[in-house]
Amino acid sequence: MAGQALIGLIGGMSWESSAQYYRLINEGVRDRLGGVASARTLMWSFDFARIEALQHAGDWDALAGELAQAARVLERGGADLLVLCTNTMHRCTQAIEDAVAIPLLHIADPTAQAIRAAGLTKVGLLGTAFTMEQDFYRGRLEQRFGLEVLTPEADDRAAVHGIIYRELVAGQVLDASREVYRAVIERLVARGAQGIILGCTEIMLLIGPADSPVPIFDTTTLHAMAAVERALGAR
Ligand code: GLU
Repeated sequence: MAGQALIGLIGGMSWESSAQYYRLINEGVRDRLGGVASARTLMWSFDFARIEALQHAGDWDALAGELAQAARVLERGGADLLVLCTNTMHRCTQAIEDAVAIPLLHIADPTAQAIRAAGLTKVGLLGTAFTMEQDFYRGRLEQRFGLEVLTPEADDRAAVHGIIYRELVAGQVLDASREVYRAVIERLVARGAQGIILGCTEIMLLIGPADSPVPIFDTTTLHAMAAVERALGAR
């Protein structure tokens, strides 16, 4: 029987969600293989303080360089595929793909596939302002998968973004913020959203299916499970 592929994780953005990836991927492999089986992984973990500063300075060239370097290190370490454990930093997808020969498993793809499999076409997107407002993420959902993507109104986007950067990446999960997100979700549903994408890898720490009247699509779990499938797929 062929061995498991070695999954290269680009993490630390933030480590709160990278820890979830590590758990989910290991649980997924154990569920598939049984016994004490666990995943073969390598993780590069950034200092998020540096990443966050570059994001808010708009220095995407520097960020692309950092990610390309991490990808090269993981490839040299033997990784067979790459998983970038954040939605926002998929803005730098091209730089990673240009830097290495191994495949990058894009987080939007398993997310969109799950939405299509559920028979939905119109979805609300929650994430950082970068993810909600720039084209790199919603454009992929729209152009490659034919989805219609709704984002919250400006005040709601600011609230969703602020809770991510002030609280969730710092390990704070607050009931008051859960109520804010629930209200934002209600307003997206009132505008026609048939499902809600948790398009930031920390939102699953705050929001679960019980917080939404429509199905939620948690990018952390969907991405981690896609990595497991890919790593075990050749068996
Ligand atoms: N983890 C978050 C995301 O999925 C936000 C942190 C970051 O900017 O990387 O977008």
